[in-house]
Amino acid sequence: MGEETKPHIVIFPTPGIGHLIPLTELAKQLIHNYNFSITLILPSAGPPSTAMKSVLDALPQTIDHIFLSPFNLDDQPKDAKGETKMSIAMVRSLPYLHEELKRITSSKRVAAMVVDLFGTDAFDIAKEFGIPPYIFFPCNANVLQLLFNLSSLHESYSGEFKDLPQPLSLPGCVPIPGTEVLAPLQDKKNDAYKWFLHHARRYSLAEGILINTFVDLEPGVLKVLMAGQQPGRPPVYPVGPITGRRSSIDKGFDDASGCLQWLDNQPPVSVLFVSFGSCGVLSHEQMIELAYGLEMSEQRFLWVVKCPRAETVDASFSKHTSTDPLDFLPDGYLTRTNGLGYLVPSWAPQMQILNHESTGGFLSHCGWNSTLESTVCGLPMITWPLYAEQRMNAVMLVEDIRVAVRPMPDGNGLIGREEISRVVRTLMIEGGEGQSLRNKMRELKESAAEVLSENGSSNMSLHEVVNKWKLTA
Ligand code: UDP
Repeated sequence: MGEETKPHIVIFPTPGIGHLIPLTELAKQLIHNYNFSITLILPSAGPPSTAMKSVLDALPQTIDHIFLSPFNLDDQPKDAKGETKMSIAMVRSLPYLHEELKRITSSKRVAAMVVDLFGTDAFDIAKEFGIPPYIFFPCNANVLQLLFNLSSLHESYSGEFKDLPQPLSLPGCVPIPGTEVLAPLQDKKNDAYKWFLHHARRYSLAEGILINTFVDLEPGVLKVLMAGQQPGRPPVYPVGPITGRRSSIDKGFDDASGCLQWLDNQPPVSVLFVSFGSCGVLSHEQMIELAYGLEMSEQRFLWVVKCPRAETVDASFSKHTSTDPLDFLPDGYLTRTNGLGYLVPSWAPQMQILNHESTGGFLSHCGWNSTLESTVCGLPMITWPLYAEQRMNAVMLVEDIRVAVRPMPDGNGLIGREEISRVVRTLMIEGGEGQSLRNKMRELKESAAEVLSENGSSNMSLHEVVNKWKLTA
């Protein structure tokens, strides 16, 4: 089939590497397994980050990507939340999206437009061009169930989630204490809450929702979400785990930091990987506790170190304006931990690290991509949630799926070095309490491979959506 006659899919992701990675992986599957052609239409804040460039450079040539004219958020207050900024960025990109769709539809049969969490305002434009709109939901099914119920919760309960007297218990879901509910929903007066409510209400306009999870991971809630179609609820297709590539021989890959080479020289299952996603940062005080905690645990670790939050660095600290994350560590740290720890500033090839045979655990901020990546590699976790829906993910991992351990903060919200050392030793010392978490994660690793196999449930779900798209085209 010639490129012009192949059914075409347009993907319009929200800015952020955590959105781009799973959507590009979905795009690759659609190209390789189903013979679609694809255009990724990318809202742009300016030149792409290095991480984004490396994801895009590694795309096969059959996936087109277009950067829209940059949006401007200069009028937004300094303390505007990420969810607000992302939603406004999407809205301000709509006129450019319109132009691109006009161009694409003049020569191609577009079978669907896929957006993610914050892209629902593009539905109107998709409909104008007769393109069925779909959502790729990059979080888990517990979060989707919360968003499906958000409008009715908003009508029936005027207080804040943190003040709920009982954990929030939605059909099929893990009960979530109010304080652990999605961070941007914790202040109803904040615009981030209003944007979530806006998008959640518009989810009903989608023709279907592809969700990056799988049946064995969230059996209860997926059973509820997939039990016949409810009015105003689009069909839900669990198609996960869709994760980044594991192979270090992928195009565009470069072990510039040398961390994979370092891992090659460590014993099997001995290294704890420590990373807080694309934008998770700690206070300076917390970073120092983490440094000491890792050292005290006497376990091997590979830590992606980021500069602490600027406002938490004491101005009297001699290097307080440095841009090198390693400058914020305790004095003599690199020398003392030499041989035990390996530190990579800012960004590391996460999927290759998790897939390395020397890696034995993951201390993570529990972003959903990181959680799935740990799952497909069979690695138990230490949960350290920071923002977005990560607290909900942590509750699920520790209390429901039982593949993780969570360090407890002291009365001031600081996780102390002794506590960090304790959880690291719990997870990493062979034969200890961590063993049952590891065993459970290994079972899930097998399930994850199974659901993606030819007759596996996630593969069949994707097949179902694709068949609908092929009929549309
Ligand atoms: N990632 C990476 N190297 C890093 C940090 C992050 O490759 O140093 C990738 C990670 O593998 C994952 C994504 O970036 O695919 C982060 O997504 P996640 O949902 O875990 O967290 P977010 O950054 O969106 O909070």
